[in-house]
Amino acid sequence: MIIIMLGAPGTGKGTVGNLLAEKLGIPHISSGEIFRSYINSDDEIGKEVKSYVSEGKLVPDELTIRILEKRLQESDTQKGCILDGYPRTVVQAESLDALLKKQNRSVKVAVNLSLSDDEIVDRITKRRSCPNVDCREIYNLDFRKPKVENVCDKCGSTLIIREDDNEATVRKRLENYHNISENLIEFYQHKDILYTVKLNNESNKVSSDIAKEIEEYLKR
Ligand code: ADP
Ligand code: ZN
Repeated sequence: MIIIMLGAPGTGKGTVGNLLAEKLGIPHISSGEIFRSYINSDDEIGKEVKSYVSEGKLVPDELTIRILEKRLQESDTQKGCILDGYPRTVVQAESLDALLKKQNRSVKVAVNLSLSDDEIVDRITKRRSCPNVDCREIYNLDFRKPKVENVCDKCGSTLIIREDDNEATVRKRLENYHNISENLIEFYQHKDILYTVKLNNESNKVSSDIAKEIEEYLKR
């Protein structure tokens, strides 16, 4: 079962994607996480990726597709996966379709998490992330505080603010989202596999509620 998490930055794609992956027993593949691990390895590709990510720009399609398609051919994805942050352009989505067709499979549902821009900026500037690659838990100073300030509940690592989680970069990422990635909503609606969850910061709907809602939808 292949599930795509759509939605602007800061809508909780990562947290919900993680929960769904655990429930369904399939890997959670986050393009942002993959890119951050390239950046940490500091090789040539890492340097190139960093030049885009640190400015809130999209990594070019050709490089993104090469990296993500390599990941999608690994054997742990046989039963499916949660794709979080990929595809993010129509070119990527068409390339993904072609790859899946070759593998005799297709996207089951594209989940669209929707939230207003102002609420997104508010959430992202309050986001804290666990840097431990085996953990990657995500916190929010308003509604998902760690038990001990700045310490990951799950693994004890010191939490960080992602380098690209500042207001200027977030605004740039939102601009890309509206100009480029938002087109994917129509792309998947057209295929009749879009499922939208409307969010707002007041509705205290937590990630586990959203994951449950999506799981119910999948059973229908
Ligand atoms: P967010 O969804 O909060 O922006 P991600 O961790 O998904 O964060 O992505 C971080 C950055 O990685 C993006 O701002 C972009 O630079 C790059 N990136 C991630 N996925 C893609 C993609 N599919 N295509 C191009 N760039 C991407
Ligand atoms: Zn952790």
